[in-house]
Amino acid sequence: MRPLLQCAFTPPSLEPNFSLKTMNISPEQRDHAHNLLDFIDASPSPWHAVASLERRLEKHGYAPLAESEAWTLEPGGKYYAVRGGSSLIAFRVGHDSPAECGFRIVGAHTDSPGLRLKPKAPHAAEGMLRLGVEVYGGPILATFTDRDLSLAGRVHLRAESGLAARLLRFEQPLLRLPNLAIHMNRTVNEEGLKLNKQTELPLLLAGLEEAIEPKDAFLNLLAERAGCAPGDLLSFELNVYDTQPGSFWGPRGEFVADGQIDNLSSCHAGLAGLLETEAGGHTAVAAFFDHEEVGSESHKGADGSFLGDVLERIAHAAGLEPPAYKQALARSFLVSADAAHAHHPNFPQAYEPLHAVKVNGGPAVKINANQRYATDGLAEARFLALCEQAGVPCQTYVHRTDLGCGSTIGPLTSARLGLSTVDCGCPMWAMHSARESAGVLDQSWFAAVLKVFFAAETLP
Ligand SMILES: [Zn+2]
Repeated sequence: MRPLLQCAFTPPSLEPNFSLKTMNISPEQRDHAHNLLDFIDASPSPWHAVASLERRLEKHGYAPLAESEAWTLEPGGKYYAVRGGSSLIAFRVGHDSPAECGFRIVGAHTDSPGLRLKPKAPHAAEGMLRLGVEVYGGPILATFTDRDLSLAGRVHLRAESGLAARLLRFEQPLLRLPNLAIHMNRTVNEEGLKLNKQTELPLLLAGLEEAIEPKDAFLNLLAERAGCAPGDLLSFELNVYDTQPGSFWGPRGEFVADGQIDNLSSCHAGLAGLLETEAGGHTAVAAFFDHEEVGSESHKGADGSFLGDVLERIAHAAGLEPPAYKQALARSFLVSADAAHAHHPNFPQAYEPLHAVKVNGGPAVKINANQRYATDGLAEARFLALCEQAGVPCQTYVHRTDLGCGSTIGPLTSARLGLSTVDCGCPMWAMHSARESAGVLDQSWFAAVLKVFFAAETLP
């Protein structure tokens, strides 16, 4: 059980006119945050994230569909499809035709930036077995130093029927990237920690005896974990993750810290929205994509065909001809859910001062004139109205004009399918750090808005 710091909280003696901000966190909001941290901790790679989503969907009666098979869909039916093991689209078929009601879609991403093992990762270096890594997306590399790292992902094995995919996770700290001592890196505090990605990122795994081949030692370790013979291990896709579980912090436990809050928190909120609402006239869709952090251009990414393929098949099952499918898309709305940059009081110069968003101030709608976010005026107004209906505060985020703005799945999906889209998400600190932070209240507020989105008979 995670310690709830609020239980042990003793108010410090403060100036008479000063009080800590009142932060009323209900038991339901606390439970929601616990549930989020459990979800993240069970999902140390995008393949595990999809397995976590599947477990929760199946508990709620969602049936798996194979893309390689014909689909028979019933009105009110609940289904999901997985592509490539790390992207998943779940949907609940509406009672009315999509041509009349459109699709209501929440999109989020299952991947997080970090380090991935190279295929020929193990090598010897001065009596140590090191693992070579590639940098996946844009992590803050320095945050991976001195942490209790381990490996999680997917392996492919030789099997009687051909090939078998298996999830693989080492629970214990297995690897480390120790810092160089300050005595050899005297300017680290003035210049920041700079790591050469090729030579200074390999992770230390073990001491190595000279007679032992690094590749054999590592494959034996993997095979033992996968429960197969080393010779049957054909490939591995392994993510480096931080084994420290999620925690609450702050005098009232009003903040959470964990890896991968960007963007498993949005997957969690989107799934809660879908699972905690009932079928209505419209078809509800929750789409979780891999590869957002590397641009989404892949067969299972948001810029691939996955969402369009699934929507087309739902439309086909409803008997829609191609023009009616286009009609359905024109009546649809996408909530592209991805974390937002919260204001950091130590770095006020990094923010657009009139659009700074606060942790525990409510979800933020993200706007960018250059379409790095897909939100337009209608989508913004609609999201504000949804927040109002949910009784949730809403904030507006705009990036500084003199800084390049990041992007997300919203603009790509919106452009590919012609969907009206809002980009939005919960404020968080330290995006792309190995250990990110966010607010407890924002998490359940965001889920509440997505519930209203999926439950409302008509959209504002
Ligand atoms: Zn993200």
